[in-house]
Amino acid sequence: MKIGIDAKFASSRHGGIGTYTTNIINALINLDQDEIIAFVPEALLPDLELVTTSKRLSIQVINADENTPEDPYDFRVYWKQEILPVQLENHKVDVFFNPAFMAPLKWDGPKVVTVHDLVFERSDHYNSERSTKYYRKWAKRCAEHANAIITVSQFTAQDIYELWNIDHIPVRPVYIAPALLFAPNNRDISKTIVLTELGVSDPYLLYVGDNFPRKNLERLIQAYSLLTTSVASAGSRKLLCKGGKAVNLSKGLRVRNQKISRASRSERSNDSDLRFFRRKDLPKIELELDDQIIETLETFASRQNRNAAEFLAWGVSNYTRGFLMMALGEWMPRDQWDALRRGDGCPLCDAIASPDLIDAYGCTVIDLPMGRLRLNNYPDTPGQCTFICKQHVCEPYHLSSADQAAFFADLMRVAQALEKVYQPIKMNLQILGNTIPHLHCHLQPRYHGDFAPNGPLAPISEKLPLPLEEFKAQSARILAALTSF
Ligand SMILES: [Zn+2]
Repeated sequence: MKIGIDAKFASSRHGGIGTYTTNIINALINLDQDEIIAFVPEALLPDLELVTTSKRLSIQVINADENTPEDPYDFRVYWKQEILPVQLENHKVDVFFNPAFMAPLKWDGPKVVTVHDLVFERSDHYNSERSTKYYRKWAKRCAEHANAIITVSQFTAQDIYELWNIDHIPVRPVYIAPALLFAPNNRDISKTIVLTELGVSDPYLLYVGDNFPRKNLERLIQAYSLLTTSVASAGSRKLLCKGGKAVNLSKGLRVRNQKISRASRSERSNDSDLRFFRRKDLPKIELELDDQIIETLETFASRQNRNAAEFLAWGVSNYTRGFLMMALGEWMPRDQWDALRRGDGCPLCDAIASPDLIDAYGCTVIDLPMGRLRLNNYPDTPGQCTFICKQHVCEPYHLSSADQAAFFADLMRVAQALEKVYQPIKMNLQILGNTIPHLHCHLQPRYHGDFAPNGPLAPISEKLPLPLEEFKAQSARILAALTSF
């Protein structure tokens, strides 16, 4: 697959979105499966932080011409709507991916965009006036032209539905972005490290981030001020603000500090409880990932001859890549599909034959007469299982009549056991097989408040694996329930 990517912001110099862009492009390069074409304006080339040694990557540097606008926002429009459509056409790109919002509307090919948040729709004041105007004009239009949308949170996915009324394009959060950095870590250890490095002691409230208006620091400070005046026990709590633009922050801080002083004069002797750390003064803090998470990751990773970091990059990128394939609307080559239908190289035949109880996809709960029950390692909702037929057939009606009845009986038994253990509000049974044409049924417990209200869950999702102990405990509970049916 030839993936064209807008790599304009592929540098940590461009902040959070820059880091996201850099990591996700590098992860796709490291997958070593596709041809990546990164389009970069000449002026931003020196900043680029991509794995430029890879033969999978080609960087297309676009030089400025006499029409190139100098104004940064005019330039963005020109770049996206005039330059990229021509470039994508010239390079015969299969699918376009932009890690930051926008898409070239004049290019007809399949497009995937990441939408980070919709704060510009929610308030006039969170971004600069110019920025708000730009995003309001272009972001929704681009999203509506995309074939699939990635978000960084469920909240943003919901915003896309509510504020933009987009419900006809697949929208899927990829929570941990493309970096191990964002995996959960051990909070107690992390807390100790942060407090030591910053030279503060408990109790405290910690804010991390810049002081752009959209971060709403002012509200935070007001709330803190109220807290310290109205809740006696909160009086000794420090507010730590980590990060921020040094120049603006000191200016804003002076004003805000005066406000706070007035608001809470009676409670506090001075403003020393409010501590800001300017970015240039910050120590570099590296937090350790939770041992158990690392161990779990390594268990799964080792089965694929990868280390934990590679495994996570692989999982996330494969997922992102799956989206690009979906946008492309591409089936695997016909001969490959026909071979799979016959059972040649069928992964589910391998799964049925495997003596391993636990692998990268899940763990075997029980072997029943007609199939093997597997508890998914990456559940969309708790208790998601797959019941795999022991025979390689594509459709249930390819089984003999007696086996059809036996398969259905096993399935009913399993579904009832899951209902007993997880107490869902609905049990979804899905026989799909569009990826692997070997008869299997997805058993999907549904819960009130889950993320696809009154509709089916999309089969593709991405989450950290369940911790091993939890995995085993749930498996044991299902097994116990099964014996009662
Ligand atoms: Zn098979």
